[in-house]
Amino acid sequence: MSVLEIRDLHVTVGEGDETKEILRGVDLTVRSGETHAIMGPNGSGKSTLAYSIAGHPKYTITGGTVTLDGEDVLAMSVDERARAGLFLAMQYPVEVPGVSVSNFLRTAATAVKGEAPKLRTWVKDVRDEMSALEMDPAFAERNVNEGFSGGEKKRHEILQMRLLKPKIAILDETDSGLDVDALRVVSEGVNRTREEGDVGVLLITHYTRILRYITPDFVHVFVNGKVVDEGGKELADKLEAEGYAAYVKGSKETA
Ligand code: ADP
Ligand code: MG
Ligand code: MG
Repeated sequence: MSVLEIRDLHVTVGEGDETKEILRGVDLTVRSGETHAIMGPNGSGKSTLAYSIAGHPKYTITGGTVTLDGEDVLAMSVDERARAGLFLAMQYPVEVPGVSVSNFLRTAATAVKGEAPKLRTWVKDVRDEMSALEMDPAFAERNVNEGFSGGEKKRHEILQMRLLKPKIAILDETDSGLDVDALRVVSEGVNRTREEGDVGVLLITHYTRILRYITPDFVHVFVNGKVVDEGGKELADKLEAEGYAAYVKGSKETA
């Protein structure tokens, strides 16, 4: 049983006169076995939240706390966060020249687990997971992210999550360009992870589309750098029907 706790998190980007507060007091708790959807309009700070938890150097934490099972996540290096059991796909470089998917995954698994996975079971695990994600075996020999399509990037992200078996997985569903097939296999990968184990999932999305495949236990509406409403999966249906207009108007009036 794990718990990720975000308390009154404030984050800025930029320096000097250009400094801009993006997160304005985010509160959120994600426990093992729970799937949370964070939904909000473009520019509301959803990716900033993901990057801040990942430890991206561009974002400055100006207040609040993030803990995983009571440990201070904000004091950890990016590697330490992964070893502690946080999965944040965007912590990895966009392209890794000359490094194959296969080597990259093994290196990542070794870093997270503290020892190299046994070769025989590892090769089988990779093959099985790739097959489940409907990935061509030849994909394992390609260089990481080099010329990957949107669907391949997403499948690779879910493949990492499947093999690294994190306690808490944070998925920023930035790619609205996923075709229905990719969306389906990606969602099935997330759902298999949920069924098998005690993972907590934080699914960040602008669109309600993916929530037809992944049913969240909790939905949080995110506007102007904070959570402004919370509910169950029915809240996603309401957002699909009504959009964010009511929340955005309210947030501007109080800004
Ligand atoms: P979302 O993922 O909800 O679309 P983002 O977190 O990407 O929102 O962005 C939130 C706001 O922060 C936007 O107004 C964006 O322009 C701004 N922002 C994000 N990153 C930076 C940055 N590195 N420098 C300046 N502004 C940024
Ligand atoms: Mg505050
Ligand atoms: Mg985003």
